[in-house]
Amino acid sequence: ADLALHAAKANKQSLQLFDPNLRPFRPEHLSLLGELNEAMRQAQLQLYFQPKIPLDRSSARYAEVLIRWLHPHRGMIPPIEFIPFAEQTGDIKQLTRWVIEKAFRQCADWLAQQLPIHLSINISSHDLLDESFSPFVQQQLISTGVPPALICLEITESSFVDDPQRAMRSLQQLRELGLQLSIDDFGTGYSSLSYLRQLPVQELKIDRAFIMSLQAEGSDAAIVKSTIELGHNLGMRIVAEGVETEAQVMLLRDWGCDFAQGYLFSKPVDGHQYIAHTYLQSV
Ligand code: C2E
Ligand code: CA
Ligand code: CA
Ligand code: CA
Repeated sequence: ADLALHAAKANKQSLQLFDPNLRPFRPEHLSLLGELNEAMRQAQLQLYFQPKIPLDRSSARYAEVLIRWLHPHRGMIPPIEFIPFAEQTGDIKQLTRWVIEKAFRQCADWLAQQLPIHLSINISSHDLLDESFSPFVQQQLISTGVPPALICLEITESSFVDDPQRAMRSLQQLRELGLQLSIDDFGTGYSSLSYLRQLPVQELKIDRAFIMSLQAEGSDAAIVKSTIELGHNLGMRIVAEGVETEAQVMLLRDWGCDFAQGYLFSKPVDGHQYIAHTYLQSV
């Protein structure tokens, strides 16, 4: 009976979360923004980590940082419910800085425990267009002592739409700091190939949409194989997102993909779980 009660409660919570009246996208819920600031102060926001697994059996460890909001009344709010909203208002800049501070500190802590872990952090177009962003990152590198080579920043192709030149300048500055740069959700945006050639990025992440129904042949296979080849020819590493089956891993490894990330290995978990259960995972 206890279990049933729990299930009912959990169910009710998730129903509440999807109650349209509580959806943060609505203008009448602008208050969520104020709450976001408070959430940053009150530790309602947490970093979760999802492993990015090298397919060449290298022993290096990699994880993507994904934010979670544990709201006292609404329960767990997934990032899709507040990140796009924070991007519309520009509040994302503050959020990114909060994430970077936390992630760098976590990285330094793990390093001090002899656990060198490469962390990938998502940043938005607003961050790239903000001239004080790379100085901020530099200052965080100095104050935490994190080696820049352990940090990878993930950007999406849409970051270049508004002001490509400014975005490019930012990327170059970040690269000069020694950070790794990655294009997230590759294949879903509008970037032209000539553009890709000029970007100072070291990694491409193939969007989950192309991995989801991946087979040995067919159009997804064609896209994935040629993206791997294209990226390699440009000197980039390739990550496949949303890997859920062994069969996908086998194909990806056959085709020379460098990393796989997805529920097959682990869902995003908190830092303790990551070290306790996920950190040592490999193919
Ligand atoms: P993303 O950067 O493309 O992150 C990958 C998303 O796919 C994550 O969702 C992850 O949990 C999910 N995922 C990973 N493996 C699988 C899989 O095998 N199957 C399926 N179905 N999904 C998988 P999440 O954590 O809900 O994040 C959603 C998006 O929110 C992220 O997409 C990213 O765009 C944004 N986001 C999350 N954290 C941050 C952050 O700290 N800053 C910024 N700017 N954006 C963030
Ligand atoms: Ca990402
Ligand atoms: Ca992605
Ligand atoms: Ca995505």
